[in-house]
Amino acid sequence: MSKMSGTLILVSAPSGCGKDTVLKEVFKKDKELRFSISYTSRPERDPADREKYNLVSEQEFLKMLENNEFLEYNKYGKNYYGTRKKPVDDWLSEGKNVILEIDVNGAKNVKKVCPEAISIFIMPPSMAELERRLRNRGTESDEDVKKRLEIAAEEITHAKNYDYICINNELSECVEDILTVIKAQSFTKNTMKDFIEEVEKDAESFNR
Ligand code: 5GP
Repeated sequence: MSKMSGTLILVSAPSGCGKDTVLKEVFKKDKELRFSISYTSRPERDPADREKYNLVSEQEFLKMLENNEFLEYNKYGKNYYGTRKKPVDDWLSEGKNVILEIDVNGAKNVKKVCPEAISIFIMPPSMAELERRLRNRGTESDEDVKKRLEIAAEEITHAKNYDYICINNELSECVEDILTVIKAQSFTKNTMKDFIEEVEKDAESFNR
């Protein structure tokens, strides 16, 4: 049986929804899954950034852009963010599923060039719960919490454009839901198209 190509999985979530924690657990449970490390020109905020990003200068980023190295990119405020094409393509052709953790605009752009990608939007169980979580952290001022809720409210309006919605109510359930979506994806006719073609070819000799 020929090797099937992997699936590109786009994951977005409104800020404060716990996306990083959820994805960390997903990667712990699915060792075959690959994570696309984005390139960004934004300065390092904390050491954990190095797990998620390749931090480059704006000049380096623009050079990569000029060399057509990105699958997609976006600019937020003063900073660029982008997904490098090469590692993603390599993993997909090796049959690996690849997760892009990406904002709503990035997801829209990838869907345009790669319509077979699937998209997952992680949602809070309710706005009230999101507010409760943000306030419970105790790290942000009232003003910051309000600002984050405003951003989240806007981001949530994009949920209906995603293929799957996973609710982050109970962490372990949300993780299982995402793993289920990924698993189901491995049985779609699109993922199985090389296999179907191969068996169809073999089957030709049985056709009268
Ligand atoms: P932060 O600076 O807070 O880490 O990220 C800001 C935003 O950039 C987040 O919404 C995050 O999902 C998004 N982002 C991270 N990597 C990429 C990427 O490679 N491409 C795009 N379009 N957005 C990204």
